[in-house]
Parts: sequence; C-alpha cells; structure tokens
Amino acid sequence: MPLVSMGPMLRHARANGYAIAAYNMIDYNSARAIVDAAVAKAAPVIVQVSVKTVRHWGYAPIAGWLRMLADEAPVPVALHLDHCTDLDVLRRCIEAGWTSVMFDGSALPFEKNLEMSLQAYAMTQRAGVGLEAEIGAIGGVEDDKVVDEDASRLADFDECVRFVGEMPDLAVFAPAIGTAHGFYKGEPNIAYDLLERITAALPVPIALHGGTGLSEEQFRRCIGYGCGKVNISTMHKRLFIEGFTRLKAEKPTLEEPLPFIAAQHNAMAEDVAASIDLFGSAGRAAELSDV
Ligand SMILES: [Zn+2]
Repeated sequence: MPLVSMGPMLRHARANGYAIAAYNMIDYNSARAIVDAAVAKAAPVIVQVSVKTVRHWGYAPIAGWLRMLADEAPVPVALHLDHCTDLDVLRRCIEAGWTSVMFDGSALPFEKNLEMSLQAYAMTQRAGVGLEAEIGAIGGVEDDKVVDEDASRLADFDECVRFVGEMPDLAVFAPAIGTAHGFYKGEPNIAYDLLERITAALPVPIALHGGTGLSEEQFRRCIGYGCGKVNISTMHKRLFIEGFTRLKAEKPTLEEPLPFIAAQHNAMAEDVAASIDLFGSAGRAAELSDV
C-alpha cells in the first residue's frame, strides 16, 4: 500500500495499549529489513531517517526506495524524518514524499521551540503529513548532536500541556523522560511519574526515544503509560555492521558480496521482528485498514 502518515497508526496504538517500532534506516538494505520484518509480523511500522542519512543519500533516492518498499508491502509503512532542527530540510522532505517529520527544537528556549514547532505544525497540516515535536532535552548522541548527562533535562509538565495544547493534531509528542540516545552507560533512569502525569493529561501518543538498551520491563511500562512509538537506532546500526563482520569472520575467503548483504539484512530483520513482538504490534496491520 502507499506510504501512510504515522498519526492514525499511533493513535490506534496508544488507544489499544501497544507501540509501533520506529527504526532508523541506514541504506536500502536496512530499510528493506525493517519493512520485511513488519510484513512477516503483519505489523505497522515506521522507517525513520536521520538528517545525516538524508544528506548522505539525497531526498529522492530515500523517498523512492521507501515508496517502492511500501507499495509492495501489505502493511502500513510510514516514512519519518528523525530529529530535524532545520525547517528547510523538513520542507524538502515533505516535498520529496516523506509522510511524517520530527521538528526538534529541544535545544532552544521553550518559547522559541514552541514558535518554530508551530511553523513546522502549519507546514505539516497543509501537506497532510504527521508531525513529532520534542521538549526537554534527551541525553546521548544523535547524529552530530551530543547532549551530555548534565545538559539532559526532563520535560516540564506545564510546558508539555501548553505545547501540545497549541498543536491539537500533533501525531506524536516527545517529552524528555530520562531515556538517552546511544548505548546506556549506567541504568536508565526513566521518570515514570512524569510520563504518567503527561499521558493522564494529554491524549497524544508519546514517542520513546533511546530505545536501545531498555529492558523488556521498561518497554512494557512505558508502552503501558501511552508510549505509542518506540525509536530504535543504535542497535540497528550495530547489527548493520555485525551482520557483515560476523559472516566475514566465519568465511574469511568469501568474496561474493550478496551473501554479506543477506546476512546484514537477516541480522537487522530478526531484531526488528523481536521488537515488534515485544511492543505488541504483531498482527495489528489488519486493524488499521480503515484507520
Ligand atoms: Zn531520538
């Protein structure tokens, strides 16, 4: 089916107590692994792309790959732009065919973040595209942005209420709740009380950033509190490399490239499928046909 906007699928996920896996693609093979796993599990899925990856491949190739993969898939697939601070990049992705985008103004003072998020909101509303927006500062490394532990900052509850209130059709909201990008160095300290307060007050689905390294129990609790979108990037990157290097270690004389591509694909697809099972989205595609 054609690429879909992530808003309706995320509202369905939140209303039904499950979450949709949002994996960061690296290239065509990694995007295909995400979509193939979703098809095998009859699950809706979000393929997201970092700005750095968009700059590497260009807008049209990525949109073209995903349109083709989605068209052939019998499950809903959204193409989403992850953590974008530049409204011009956002606009170009929308023009190229992205069905969802994230504006990340979390490094800005609240009023400026709100002002620019509202510009992104107006742009996405005109285009019929879903928007994700963030407040607070999620720690760790994302693209070239490093937010060290001291600079990470939980979202302020009153600001969350005001921010989301200004964007009633926001597809997904990303308040910083203590998770971090990259591999966790210590035990993740998730502010469940803040998450619960936010979801009790606001019906919008919540995005859980920094999914790599959280325990099954942590995922279940966050999803139970209304996290409808779970982002996984770091593990996908690791398996992209390990899928290749493991086969090279096993068969050092192998020179034919296609088995390496297949090994990478399978390593990534297995992880996506496991996430889909854990997040409760397996078999949900059929429920979304009229959403
Ligand atoms: Zn993130």
